[in-house]
Amino acid sequence: MGKDKVTEEYGSLLFTDKVMQERLPKPTYKELRQVIDEGKPLDLDIANEVAHAMKDWALEKGATHFAHWFQPLTGITSEKHDSFITPKSDGTVLMSFSGKELVQGEPDASSFPSGGLRATFEARGYTAWDPTSPAFIKDEVLCIPTAFISYTGEALDKKTPLLRSQVALATQAKRVLKLFGREPKRVFTTIGPEQEYFLIKEEDYEKRPDLVLTGRTLFGCEPVKGQELEEHYFGTIRPTVNEFMKEVDDELWKLGVPAKTKHNEVAPSQHELAPIFEQGSLAVDDNLLTMEKLKLLATRHGLACLEHEKPFEYVNGSGKHNNWSICADDKNLLEPGDKPSENLQFLVFLAALVAAVDEHADLLRMSVASAGNDHRLGANEAPPAIISVFLGDELDAIVEALINKEEPEDHGSERMDLGVPALPSVLRDNTDRNRTSPFAFTGNKFEFRMCGSQQNLSDPNVVLNTAVAEQCDRFATKLEGVSEEEFTTVALRWVRHTLRDHQRVIFEGNGYSEEWEAEAERRGLPNLKSTPDALPVIVDPKTVEFYGKYHVLDEAELHARYVSKAEQYAKLLNIEANTMVYMARSLYMPALSDFSGDLATAVATKAEIGIESPAEKDLVKMVTDGITAISAAAADLEAKNTETQALEDPQAQCNSYRDVVIPAMETLRAAVDGMEKVCGADYWPVPTYNEMLFWV
Ligand code: ADP
Ligand code: MG
Repeated sequence: MGKDKVTEEYGSLLFTDKVMQERLPKPTYKELRQVIDEGKPLDLDIANEVAHAMKDWALEKGATHFAHWFQPLTGITSEKHDSFITPKSDGTVLMSFSGKELVQGEPDASSFPSGGLRATFEARGYTAWDPTSPAFIKDEVLCIPTAFISYTGEALDKKTPLLRSQVALATQAKRVLKLFGREPKRVFTTIGPEQEYFLIKEEDYEKRPDLVLTGRTLFGCEPVKGQELEEHYFGTIRPTVNEFMKEVDDELWKLGVPAKTKHNEVAPSQHELAPIFEQGSLAVDDNLLTMEKLKLLATRHGLACLEHEKPFEYVNGSGKHNNWSICADDKNLLEPGDKPSENLQFLVFLAALVAAVDEHADLLRMSVASAGNDHRLGANEAPPAIISVFLGDELDAIVEALINKEEPEDHGSERMDLGVPALPSVLRDNTDRNRTSPFAFTGNKFEFRMCGSQQNLSDPNVVLNTAVAEQCDRFATKLEGVSEEEFTTVALRWVRHTLRDHQRVIFEGNGYSEEWEAEAERRGLPNLKSTPDALPVIVDPKTVEFYGKYHVLDEAELHARYVSKAEQYAKLLNIEANTMVYMARSLYMPALSDFSGDLATAVATKAEIGIESPAEKDLVKMVTDGITAISAAAADLEAKNTETQALEDPQAQCNSYRDVVIPAMETLRAAVDGMEKVCGADYWPVPTYNEMLFWV
């Protein structure tokens, strides 16, 4: 890379604030800024001017098309490209792009999952420009981040509820801050998602129908070596991988995605990319772009990037840590601060978070539930399925002290001495990390570690934002109207009571241990082990009321999300079951048949010249029995999958996948994996774990 190519190219494919300033008339720029920063409604005249400037900029960068870029309930991104051309009567074309085209698009919504929200006769949905996420150019297409909504206004995507939850949080947090004498212009969340992924050779990937069709290996016996030597984590990055990572960085930087850290992860062939945190919904968009770039660019290096939560049994799976905080203008509200008054404000937000996580633990768990993530959570490599909060020694001690203190008398300032001055310096250097905790305080932010690697981060952040908004609402409602003299006392009492009422969710110990599972049960914490267990939470009356109150999702929208999530789970497992049956019959059985057939021939030939080979003979028998077992297990899986497919009730169907189909899949896998251990390598039809995971 030449001299400071990075600063030159950074954000060159992004319609940045700087570009807007340069290209928009001053008043237009000012108004647009208000739309972006303060959520002011957008005027069509402004949109027209922005569209014009955007088009000119995009054409200069070589773009020929534009697309509304959106996030249907599948979680991945969608786009339909429209060219800028408008033919003229003289046979030439004009490149045009109007404000209306910028603001609103009309993709045919009928093929996206809607959970029944949108009957086919009203198949039209529309996309609406999200001006808080800048437009960017990808493969000569000007991409405009948008929300995807039905004609009757229901959210059909992941982004809409996220934006709504951000509004709810900003509104309620501003009420809290006002009580502390602060009136920030903007209150927003910050998110830094750490993305894990695997890289294997593309030629291996292409030979594994399970990886191609489902993203994970459905078969494969334990590799002779796993991650036990702990040599991969932070190990030297291999040249091929390094070349790939460099290109990813370059491409992301051009798009203004602040990719920062890259390293090898715990499992062999596993890696991580972490960006610098950004405003919440923008960080989610950028994470989606990152996932797309990782996948696409890998193939240029002869690699395949696996973003599934559990591509390989026997080694760690991949997650995505959601680092989360709230910011008021440029001040991080989870920064403990130096002054006692700021400490009190910090304690209010801290207590709000603890309460938020406790009250909506089931919803938070649900927000990360997926067939893929079910392989990870609770498997001693990722947090357990039980939600708890880790505060670290110092903060935990302060919380304990606060809770155990008797009811304060009305001497506000005196109360502030309850160990609170000890906060700032200790906390800032807090390096205590508990990797087993699903929700950990890490100095000046919380880290939610349950998210799956291939998941769109909107869902968990919708829960977090709304749950914290609810607590802020409660605090503000209680404190508004309290006299200035009493404020500190009453506020501190609220903190104490809130922490006391929700102390059960605070856990500093080892989240992997069996004792914790038992302890959590005693504490009454939910333990939703699988996706089907977690699904009903979406439509629980408590959820409907909670989301309804803050205008994040209404009952119909929640029902749709439930249906869509259940469908996704069932469809995915159906594909996995089908793929297994297909691979068993068309790959493994023929290979084993060849192997045992050749062996049998060898045994017979040897016998003809008087040489007995009992070992080979036994092997022929063993493999023949193996073929029989595989055949039976495949037939059984096929039958159970068919029965499960026929179930009409979505919950019953998901339960049946979990209780009936998954065990049948495990039986088939065990039969095949057992044979992999004895079959000749030349006969084995697909690359093995040994080959795929240790490819250099
Ligand atoms: P780890 O030890 O978990 O790898 P790091 O200190 O490297 O943690 O940070 C991980 C992520 O947290 C990074 O993406 C970083 O940008 C993000 N982060 C840091 N501060 C904040 C914040 N205030 N809000 C949200 N994310 C943050
Ligand atoms: Mg982390």
